[in-house]
Amino acid sequence: MEQDTLDSIIKAGAVTREARQLGASMIAEGVSLLNVAEETERYILKKGAKPAFPVNISINQIAAHFTPASNDRTTFSRGDVVKLDVGAHVNGHMGDTAITVEVSTKNWSSLIDAPSKALSMAIDMISEGVPVGAIGGVIERGIRSNGFVPIRNLGGHEIKRHELHSGLSISNYDDGNTAKVHNEMLLAIEPFATDGAGEVDNAKPGNIYIVQRDREIKDAGAKHLFDLIKEEFGSLAFCERWCSALDPKAPANLRTLVRQGAIYAYPILIEAGGGMVSQTEHTLLINGSRAMVTT
Ligand code: MN
Ligand code: MN
Repeated sequence: MEQDTLDSIIKAGAVTREARQLGASMIAEGVSLLNVAEETERYILKKGAKPAFPVNISINQIAAHFTPASNDRTTFSRGDVVKLDVGAHVNGHMGDTAITVEVSTKNWSSLIDAPSKALSMAIDMISEGVPVGAIGGVIERGIRSNGFVPIRNLGGHEIKRHELHSGLSISNYDDGNTAKVHNEMLLAIEPFATDGAGEVDNAKPGNIYIVQRDREIKDAGAKHLFDLIKEEFGSLAFCERWCSALDPKAPANLRTLVRQGAIYAYPILIEAGGGMVSQTEHTLLINGSRAMVTT
């Protein structure tokens, strides 16, 4: 691996970790989701990195893919189980990390501990040559040992330059995948635990988007925003907040772009059985017989 690449991966990991710590420290009763998302993203920019995706703040039965809109006034409530998922990149080299925080209560400590424990067990066993299915098996055992179930249709992923999800997919159970971990791979491992069905369903879109296909847009306003989106975000996910900072008519123009198939709106992911959800995530750089945690 080139020294430049390694330096960027290490820096992205460190910035992502610090941003996660800052965001998590802000989560409290009465604080707005918008404030936490914006401060966390501002920190990433201040450190000379860029967000790899909008900060995800997913509460209780919501597992992932929610970020507040620019006019969202929602605040955290006592008892909320909050997943904060943060990504940053340096020259396209990324860190991806998540933590779960419970607001003011301790009713869900064992649920919150389950994915952390599973992730530690996975980090200890991951090395060059380990089959992906075996990682999932260890994660599932870690979660079940706390009395919960893994979410089977969410999982970890290989990260490549400018591509958050690319190459290997790592299930949170043994899916029988015999593909092996290779040296110098960058992997995000992200166990999700629940007391519900162990599966997520798609709900309504949650303000997070990605360019789907480059096509001609007739509407002048939507075309202008689409050009800005391609230039600013390229192949990475973005959100209504970031677009509204570029274009006061962003919400309407985003709807036009979704309708025309130019961009895709990610649905919010909700636990299918109405279960509570916790998540922990780290990015790992495979270095021979060990996995180095970058985040
Ligand atoms: Mn993540
Ligand atoms: Mn991830």
